[in-house]
Amino acid sequence: MGDNMKFKNPNARKIKGSHLLLISCAYCKEPTLKYQKVGNSGLIKMYNDRILEGNIDFSKYHGVLLCPNCGEQVAIRYITKNDRKEAYRLHHSTFNKKKIRD
Ligand SMILES: [Zn+2]
Repeated sequence: MGDNMKFKNPNARKIKGSHLLLISCAYCKEPTLKYQKVGNSGLIKMYNDRILEGNIDFSKYHGVLLCPNCGEQVAIRYITKNDRKEAYRLHHSTFNKKKIRD
């Protein structure tokens, strides 16, 4: 379930040494995106260029990420302080994550 996403992210880069996470909505369980995570720390933000694909169209600007199924807010766009990169800050407990590939 959830392996076919509607939209490829045109900003995505292949991230060396990452593993692939499936992020889904904690409210309705809808798969929202696949994310290339580096390291095993908790997931608190998602860099835009590490999002591989999603059921959200990442070719468009999003100030907030909403679940495409139930409309709950999952994350807010911001620019990271240290490396000035576009990212989305996740809300605690509004998402589930599952490792789908090493
Ligand atoms: Zn939802």
